[in-house]
Amino acid sequence: MIEGISQIGQLLLEGDDSSYIDLLIQPISLDKKEQYLVGIDFNTVSKLIDFKILKEIPRKTDDPEKEDTQQTDDEASKMSLWVGNASSNNPQLRLTSNQIAYLLSQSIPLLRDELPEDSKLRSQLDEIVKAFFFDLGEVFGDQKKFRYVLDITYPVISSDINFNELKMTKSPKEVVEDISDIVKKHIEKRLSVSSKQIALYTVMLNGQILAQSDDYKAFIEENLQPDFDAKSKGNCFICNKESPVSSNVTKLKFKYYIEDKINFSSDVQGDFNKNFSFCPLCYTKLQAGENFIQNKLKTNIGSFSAYLIPKFLFNLKMTSEQLSKFANFVLFSFNTARNFEGINKFYDRIREDYIEYDDIKNSFIFNVLFFKKNKAEMKILKLIKDIPPDRFTKLIETTNKVKEKMKDLLSESPMWNIDLAKIYYLTPVKKSGGDPTAYKELLELYSAIISGESIDYLVMIRQFTDLIRVYRFERFPIYNITKPNDVIWGMTSAVIQCNLLLLYLKELNLLRGGISMENTDLETLKIDDDMKEFITKIGYNEPQIALFLMGKLIGEIGWRQGGNEPILEKITYQGMDSKRLLRLTNEIFEKLKQYKALTPYNKNIFTACKMLLDKYINNWQLDDQENVFYILSGYSYRRQRAKPDTEEPEANESEETDEPSLF
Ligand SMILES: [Zn+2]
Repeated sequence: MIEGISQIGQLLLEGDDSSYIDLLIQPISLDKKEQYLVGIDFNTVSKLIDFKILKEIPRKTDDPEKEDTQQTDDEASKMSLWVGNASSNNPQLRLTSNQIAYLLSQSIPLLRDELPEDSKLRSQLDEIVKAFFFDLGEVFGDQKKFRYVLDITYPVISSDINFNELKMTKSPKEVVEDISDIVKKHIEKRLSVSSKQIALYTVMLNGQILAQSDDYKAFIEENLQPDFDAKSKGNCFICNKESPVSSNVTKLKFKYYIEDKINFSSDVQGDFNKNFSFCPLCYTKLQAGENFIQNKLKTNIGSFSAYLIPKFLFNLKMTSEQLSKFANFVLFSFNTARNFEGINKFYDRIREDYIEYDDIKNSFIFNVLFFKKNKAEMKILKLIKDIPPDRFTKLIETTNKVKEKMKDLLSESPMWNIDLAKIYYLTPVKKSGGDPTAYKELLELYSAIISGESIDYLVMIRQFTDLIRVYRFERFPIYNITKPNDVIWGMTSAVIQCNLLLLYLKELNLLRGGISMENTDLETLKIDDDMKEFITKIGYNEPQIALFLMGKLIGEIGWRQGGNEPILEKITYQGMDSKRLLRLTNEIFEKLKQYKALTPYNKNIFTACKMLLDKYINNWQLDDQENVFYILSGYSYRRQRAKPDTEEPEANESEETDEPSLF
């Protein structure tokens, strides 16, 4: 991973004549509405503060073709030298921020104190603090940085505030929060824009953007780099050259040691980072590469964020423009495997926009890094390594294959496209506070699919029956599954999707275990052709077919019962052994009689079901969870098949003779 990131940094450094700072500028991601860069202009002549829109950041284009590519704008960022806020608990020393609270309190006085005595910027900031800031008096500990706050009583933004009273009842931090809220509302009114649309604020003095001054640039440049002590020479982890090195990784955003932790699974402690010492050039490359990846190669599946990190196998030359287009291509491939929208659409787009990457397809591989952001900290959830770019095409083609196979059997709907996003909703993950916690299984599954490792069939069945229980017992609030309007409809479509997922995994050759379809003679079974076709295509074996037919009959009864379909209560969702299966068969038979549903059509299904059960029941090979899953599959198929529910071929209610024999 680290190699790929430094390669990108190198390409960026070689590509154009961008300066160090240019490479660390944070572009603004375009939004549905316009956004703004707002200047906070301190006028020392008139003694007034003016708020002005310095730049309008355009809206996202509605072009669906561009949906998948990262749309960003860096003009406002360049204008105000936006390089992000300082990380975690470090003091905020920047004159441009997306958090106005920093600029109304700590940034200006703290930056002033950091600058050299003879700096022009220092005296300018001092002027602002003296003329416009209120001193809350000496404060200690973590409140220290909130000592100075914008005085909003003169020039008047609000006259309702009495600082001397306020500081008696509130902590400096709380005072700053209150003041920020008042100023935000004032700006909204003054500029007629919602504060949600203000992407950045920047400090100005008498009409001049202070972030553009040379003093500020020099300060930021130094602030973004660690110290390279000429005395502490060592070998750079990346280029291996002997040089002054730094092992201070706090200025980097990714936690590289995770990778080694995975490799060596050693006990990581204290000084581990010492292995990662970088020379100044490589450090810069990493920073530039990280910034590029964060802005151009970020994606997500469900609530998981991910970076796609390419690694080039040969030396390539690319301009930063070419590199951006390459990033779009990478994102487009991944995002189509995530949300499939048709195979022709995919190929057309490749031909039209990305044909040049066909030539370099074999010259790079990928890492997929799943992570979670917790304030300024990035927690790595999973790293999937060394994926050939063709893999995403393979996944897209497999989604299409499954879709084609099910044509005419299921309704024409994107609901049946099994892609990475669908899989998210087929794997129940417990969430706490809106964030999935037990994510490991789901990420294991993604990892297997993306890297082509096999998956245990029974593990999948467990997940599917977990999912069935989420629907059946309406456990939606604690899982990543949203409650549908019609829960039975939601459950049955999910169960069919699980069947299609098994097919998807089989097509990819990933499924390990399970009994395959052998010696299954469907010809002799008197059941509908569409059902036979579905069974054949998914690849059920005979015991599975018996359960599927049982589920189908439960559907027939439930349809006649209506409402909540009380027959569904006869299924034991925690798992069913063979004894329970026999009991359920008897109950199904009784209910068919009770609801006058023993039509010849249903009788044939019952006969087929019982014949298969008789054949295997004394040596039943499926486990308790599989039994539940395949019964629910038959039930779901009845509800979700392409043919409408009410049609019953050869139905003839009057013909209710020779009952099939029971056990
Ligand atoms: Zn180096």
